[in-house]
Amino acid sequence: MVSLMSDKSDIPYQSPLVPNLLAESDLIQFRCHKGIACFNECCRNIDITLTPYDLLRLKQRLELSSKELLNQYTLPFEMDAHGTPGVKLKPVEGGTACQFMTEDGCSVYEDRPTACRYYPLGLMSIRKSGEYSDEQGFALVKEDHCLGHNEDRTLTIQEYREEQGVEEYDELTREWRRLILKKKSAGPSIGKPPEMSLQLFFMASYNVDQFQQFVTSEQFLGTYQLEPDLIESLKTDQLEVIKFGARLLKQVLFGEITIEVVSGATEKRVQRQKARAEELRELARKQAEADTKAAEGKGS
Ligand code: SF4
Ligand code: SF4
Repeated sequence: MVSLMSDKSDIPYQSPLVPNLLAESDLIQFRCHKGIACFNECCRNIDITLTPYDLLRLKQRLELSSKELLNQYTLPFEMDAHGTPGVKLKPVEGGTACQFMTEDGCSVYEDRPTACRYYPLGLMSIRKSGEYSDEQGFALVKEDHCLGHNEDRTLTIQEYREEQGVEEYDELTREWRRLILKKKSAGPSIGKPPEMSLQLFFMASYNVDQFQQFVTSEQFLGTYQLEPDLIESLKTDQLEVIKFGARLLKQVLFGEITIEVVSGATEKRVQRQKARAEELRELARKQAEADTKAAEGKGS
């Protein structure tokens, strides 16, 4: 199963993708069901890119920490030449099949990732050069092993999206996708983001536990001015945390001010850093003094 959650430039040469960009009102002929001869075929060779909401749903379903989920079920990859981090579903040890595949089908079906829901469609976001907003379209993937295209059922893409429950997934990841698209369409002009920004991107996108701790820490709340209600939701609701992540990343990656900075916070941070540096210098000086005394004691 190939994952197509992407901008059009990513379509691989010789891909099984039908080259027309489709709209929600377009019809497709497709049905997937347990009795079909190719049942599970699409899950035997996976390439599934995960979104922040995909990870949150899997994490809640499997009752794992972010760290456990990332270690057991994902693989990192770079989404672009600047090393923007992405994560994919990790297949079974030494194989290509999905770890969630069982004889009866998908063991996390109700919480399966967006790409699995969309298949055999791919969600394509396109931003034409010189335009500020993106357009959404769909691409049909026809892989030889998938017999669902021969089934006698025709429906619109809108009906298929409703059936597969993708609207909620799209809604909750829209801002995050826009960020990625914006970064890609900006091309090399934007330059490689600093390592710290890429680390923040990873944490805000994929490690919700760690990001939640970060954005509710005293230091963060001393830097950014957040509404009390928002602070409360960030402490208790990880869905709010991933939504906030896209907002913060917009600010960090593109300088779009979406969150007010506490006045004087930068100066205070610089003062704290200076004080810390002074403490470290003092410690080093004392250590050097102690070493000299010890050396003198040995010599006498
Ligand atoms: S998560 Fe489920 S639907 Fe998606 S590849 Fe794995 S087994 Fe298949
Ligand atoms: S019809 Fe296609 S999507 Fe359904 S089980 Fe077969 S290969 Fe997978």
